[in-house]
Amino acid sequence: MSTNAYCDALVLGSGPGALSISAALGNENLKVEVLSKQKPTDPWPFTYGIWGEEVDELGIEELLAHRWKNTVSYFGAGSKENNHFENTPTKHNRDYGLFDKSKLQNYWINQCNKASTTWHIGIAIDFEINNLFSIVKTSDGKVIKTRLIIDATGYNPVFLKSPYQGPIAVQTCYGIVGEFSSPPVEKDQFILMDYRNNHLSNEEKIEPPTFLYAMDMGDGKYFLEETSLGLAPPVSLDLLKARLHRRLKNKGIKVNTLEHEELGIYLPMNMPIPNLNQPILGFGGSAGMVHPASGYMVGSLLRRAPLVAKAVATAMKEKDCPPSLIAKKGWEALWPDELRKKQALYKFGLEKLMRFDDKQLRDFFIQFFQLPNKQWYGFLTNTLSLKDLIKAMWRMFQKAPWNVKWGLMRMQGREMQLLWNFLKVNN
Ligand SMILES: Cc1cc2nc3c(=O)[nH]c(=O)nc-3n(C[C@H](O)[C@H](O)[C@H](O)COP(=O)(O)OP(=O)(O)OC[C@H]3O[C@@H](n4cnc5c(N)ncnc54)[C@H](O)[C@@H]3O)c2cc1C
Repeated sequence: MSTNAYCDALVLGSGPGALSISAALGNENLKVEVLSKQKPTDPWPFTYGIWGEEVDELGIEELLAHRWKNTVSYFGAGSKENNHFENTPTKHNRDYGLFDKSKLQNYWINQCNKASTTWHIGIAIDFEINNLFSIVKTSDGKVIKTRLIIDATGYNPVFLKSPYQGPIAVQTCYGIVGEFSSPPVEKDQFILMDYRNNHLSNEEKIEPPTFLYAMDMGDGKYFLEETSLGLAPPVSLDLLKARLHRRLKNKGIKVNTLEHEELGIYLPMNMPIPNLNQPILGFGGSAGMVHPASGYMVGSLLRRAPLVAKAVATAMKEKDCPPSLIAKKGWEALWPDELRKKQALYKFGLEKLMRFDDKQLRDFFIQFFQLPNKQWYGFLTNTLSLKDLIKAMWRMFQKAPWNVKWGLMRMQGREMQLLWNFLKVNN
């Protein structure tokens, strides 16, 4: 059978990971088919945030539904030298935006349709691979042939295998959108993190720290989300809900209208990078692309999809190139040594933050956002080179107060192993 009789790539899933890579492959003139449980136009469940500079650099600023210039965090008083931060906002001096979800979805779908992508609805349950092509079977008996399978089925991928690296740290959030008896956030303001906790008792302050992520959505509506940065086992949704309401009560604010409640949000933060010798490729949550420090991924999808698609298209020019070799070229483009080293460093950093007590965390973030604006932005968006990332971390360490320095130096639990994981990439 000639390779022309089946598609070049079969992408599994229709979330941001699947649509971004499908669009990029289509732009490389490859014949793409997409198989997902849902229609590609079905609304996504979550709201996606991104820094303004990321969308500006990609030229897609019109895909934002909201954009804030007044972006701040509150870290409360940390140790003595940081007492003056109690009610002083840390100004971020850069824009933050929320995507219009359907615009982002259509941005990718339109590119796919221009490249005549074929859409299938179904559940992938099995696959086979030989030297010429791959086959995916669906739960309703369909068989789809392709040169390359790309598993973009999210954090619990249907086919991709990853090494076990210990418990996964999970970010949990409880969020509400509504109208309130008085503004919980200043007009036109976006709060990345409000770690102030003077509404909690001393006993409660010993429990894992949580912060408020909040924004003025306009028209008298606000989005408030009590969030735990990441923990294994995760902070419970009941605790987050109770804390959000305590926070509001402390300010004498009542919820007048509850428009939307975000329940059951679990975001794995330190997903392992999958085994890179698999004959299928991954993209998105399945491929460990989530940023371990922020939980964000959409900026990375937008930046990295064209690079991976190009590598795949180049490998496919060789008519007899087996699926395993095409996947290998894709993995090399997705996870070059430098990115894997950075990912290992971020995971080491997250492990440290998970052990920090409330005061250490607040001192840490006060110091982190004192880094030059470009440096902390590059850290959070994973756009620094490895050298510059290490420089940022070193600078952070040098300037940090002693309680933070001590926490960073003291090796506990699996931290030594995580540091070793960083050192051994490419060695
Ligand atoms: C609550 C939350 C908030 C987030 N906020 C942000 C944010 O603000 N900014 C940001 O950049 N990132 C954010 N992220 C991270 C990341 O961008 C999202 O998790 C994103 O949805 C991951 O995309 P994905 O396509 O990899 O996976 P998913 O969105 O989970 O999509 C998986 C797809 O695979 C399909 N599927 C699953 N199994 C099969 C099967 N067997 N056969 C066929 N199809 C299948 C599903 O139907 C779905 O379409 C957030 C994540 C969460 C959980």
